[in-house]
Amino acid sequence: MKIPALVWLMLGIVLSASSYYLGDDFVLFFYAGLIIIALGVFKLILEYVFSSKETSIEKKAVQEKEHYDKCRHCNNVVRRIDYYCSMCGKQLR
Ligand SMILES: [Zn+2]
Repeated sequence: MKIPALVWLMLGIVLSASSYYLGDDFVLFFYAGLIIIALGVFKLILEYVFSSKETSIEKKAVQEKEHYDKCRHCNNVVRRIDYYCSMCGKQLR
């Protein structure tokens, strides 16, 4: 189960706002709401860091892929700088 960070933020705001109007008896809920808001902000930052990291890994994978080619004799993956296929030994170019 994955709860989006924005749901945490909304929940925290609703909880702390409603307990604020309900009075001193609900001061615990007010702090609980603040903690949930902090949690939501933390999750938002985590999601942002994680997603930006992921895209940079994808970019790197694409860049590395450009250095590779397929042998037209046996379909083995070979480096573009190679003259001969490492699998079947046939000339690549
Ligand atoms: Zn080959």
